[in-house]
Amino acid sequence: MVDFSYTKAQLDLQRRAREFAQEYMIPYAHYYDKTGAFPRPIIQKCWDEGLMNLAIPKEYGGPGLGVTEQCIAVEEMAAGCAGMTTSIYVNTLGAEPILIAGNKEQKEKYLKPLTEELKFVSFACSEPGIGSDVAGIETRVEKKGDNYVLNGAKFWITNAPYADYFTVFASLDPNQRHKALCAFIVDADTPGIKTGRPVEKMGHRASTTSAVMFRDAEVPAENILGSEGEGFKIAMQTFAMTRPSIAAFATGLAKAAMEYAREYVNKREAFNQKLREFEVIQFKLAEMYMKIEASRLLYLKAAWTADNKEDSTVPASVAKAIATDVAMEVASEAVQIHGGYGYIDQYPLEKLFRDAKLYQIYEGTSEVQRLILGRYVLKGYKPAMEQIPKWLNEAPPSF
Ligand SMILES: Cc1cc2nc3c(=O)[nH]c(=O)nc-3n(C[C@H](O)[C@H](O)[C@H](O)COP(=O)(O)OP(=O)(O)OC[C@H]3O[C@@H](n4cnc5c(N)ncnc54)[C@H](O)[C@@H]3O)c2cc1C
Repeated sequence: MVDFSYTKAQLDLQRRAREFAQEYMIPYAHYYDKTGAFPRPIIQKCWDEGLMNLAIPKEYGGPGLGVTEQCIAVEEMAAGCAGMTTSIYVNTLGAEPILIAGNKEQKEKYLKPLTEELKFVSFACSEPGIGSDVAGIETRVEKKGDNYVLNGAKFWITNAPYADYFTVFASLDPNQRHKALCAFIVDADTPGIKTGRPVEKMGHRASTTSAVMFRDAEVPAENILGSEGEGFKIAMQTFAMTRPSIAAFATGLAKAAMEYAREYVNKREAFNQKLREFEVIQFKLAEMYMKIEASRLLYLKAAWTADNKEDSTVPASVAKAIATDVAMEVASEAVQIHGGYGYIDQYPLEKLFRDAKLYQIYEGTSEVQRLILGRYVLKGYKPAMEQIPKWLNEAPPSF
């Protein structure tokens, strides 16, 4: 049976996340967007409310929630402020490689502290010279005695200046591409690690993004995740678990944009009528609603696949590709409905429009999702028609 209803616990989580967004995020979103300051008080409150680190299993002090619950919560929070939610959610992204490939000691040492007080973990994969091509990572790692030694630079690392530790992807030999990638847990206070200045961004300005440099940074051998050469697999498995949430982020932003537009058309008049009276405007709202509904169903399917321990790579790419395009389209139409007021910072739409763009870029661009899906249709997809029946220009015989 297919069941589209949320459980009582899921509804409760949704309500708590929604109330948190309305009480603590929306009122301060403009301030953090303007200043680009790190919203630590809001994140602390989120941690206090038990809305952070949702994936951490109960045995390590977390609530042990599934991808579905993570998606339900981030949809609500991203509707409040995309940037703050990115800064909150990045702990889940950073911790996911440990959940996937960490041993018991690593989980005890690195996951548990996240649930005891507010601590940050960042996911350090992208570099100045590579983003989409994860197998092309150039940060080098060398085994020296009981340590691995890291040299290189990461870029675009969310929350990097505040991170207590990083999950880092590095190569034993860049010529060997994906076969040589390794993943590590790296304490941020390791000698030889420096973080760069936060970069000024178009949107998501409440989340801090900066470079991380490694110069002869020595990491204890026991901090490798899985074994040598497993880094690429760990990164891809991580994205399969986290991309449904990016689709949920995008759905939340689109939902907020539609709700601001709905409110506006009920108030604004043109040609002696409320905007809501124009059929063209109603059709715009209808398009928004249809697309948001479709996005939510897609992220729920991807999350359900992940929670059922099946490979969620394909449904996660479908959900991310579609929901992030929807967020961009809906934000753009919501700006349009607001006319000039959509273009100024006294209304939330211009921020939502800038914030929406990032969803098509991080955690695998829209093009990368389509690469994955194109390959799947050609190589993995099982056609319903094993052999294409003949296409005849004849009336059927009597069957
Ligand atoms: C605000 C922000 C926060 C981020 N946070 C993090 C983080 O916390 N951790 C982290 O590791 N990374 C992070 N990233 C990095 C992000 O994941 C990358 O920017 C993204 O993967 C794209 O990589 P790139 O910027 O190097 O673009 P490129 O890979 O250089 O791509 C440039 C363009 O070419 C296209 N392209 C590339 N290859 C192909 C192809 N084979 N076929 C067709 N088109 C292609 C891309 O889709 C894109 O349009 C963040 C980025 C931003 C902007």
